[in-house]
Amino acid sequence: MIRPQSVLTPRPAGLYCEPGDFYIDPVRPVDRAVITHGHADHARPGHGAVAATAPTLAIMEARYGADFAGSVQHLAYGETWSRDGAEVSLAPAGHVLGSAQVVVRYRGLTLVVSGDYKRRADPTCAAFEPVPCHVFVTEATFGLPVFRHPPAEEEVAKLLSCVAQFPERTCLVGAYALGKAQRVIALLRAAGWDQPIPVHGALTRLNELYEAFGVALGPLFPAAASLGKDLAGAIVLAPPSALATPWARRFPEPVTAFASGWMRVRARARQRAVELPLIISDHADWDELTSTIAELAPGEVWITHGREEALARWCALEGIPARPLALVGYDEEED
Ligand SMILES: [Zn+2]
Ligand SMILES: [Zn+2]
Repeated sequence: MIRPQSVLTPRPAGLYCEPGDFYIDPVRPVDRAVITHGHADHARPGHGAVAATAPTLAIMEARYGADFAGSVQHLAYGETWSRDGAEVSLAPAGHVLGSAQVVVRYRGLTLVVSGDYKRRADPTCAAFEPVPCHVFVTEATFGLPVFRHPPAEEEVAKLLSCVAQFPERTCLVGAYALGKAQRVIALLRAAGWDQPIPVHGALTRLNELYEAFGVALGPLFPAAASLGKDLAGAIVLAPPSALATPWARRFPEPVTAFASGWMRVRARARQRAVELPLIISDHADWDELTSTIAELAPGEVWITHGREEALARWCALEGIPARPLALVGYDEEED
């Protein structure tokens, strides 16, 4: 059988598939790219031909304009695209709307590149689909045993009890514009919060895009449309970068919350002056990473980015050969 290293090879521009002549999530402009999802460090403008799911292409267009690539190819989940004997298909990754794992089949060998993924239920995107493979190429953003995300519902319950406790204050929730903001809104709706939710203008475009792809978010309105004092008792969503700006000071004694897997780390919450850390992550935690590898039982694990060493050691103890690829250019979480 052909060696997997000759099918997928780490290069400075990213992970390269030689038989199909394309890169996966390249960090530099290339002729041909397959993009796993719309976060800016994975989906960059300036490539020749880009293949991705329809939502990912729509996110790229919304961010970079209609000419973000030379040409585009929509791939539905499960649809196969062949090129010089290499077969490529996408499977849901459960990370954000449109996020996909890239499945590469070549001469009897199956390699799966997870992209960013999670296993928790998320009503705003399709659930991760395990694909049996010889080589599983995984992310490892939270690849340390200390990272165990609590149920997101518990974190949202904390948010709601904070609002009930301080009706005269505004609860300002920092959440990344792509994925996290919409997930927090969906979690609030599932918890029975049916009031119109004021949102920062930087979230509007992606909220609308989610709605256009059939993800219902309920009534939202621009936070800028109200005077701060009218928003006492409200839950306002904003990108994390807006929390420490004059924009945030318009609200009456805001309670600053931040929804991120990194809120497990107290120092990070303090650094951002977060009063109410909400541990809500769109990345697999340690248990999700290890249970996914155990479930797939691949012949080899390759680790693309994140905390590579601990996960590689865990694989070795399980008798699964693992190799950190140390790909550069990917952030630990998007802002
Ligand atoms: Zn991502
Ligand atoms: Zn990533």
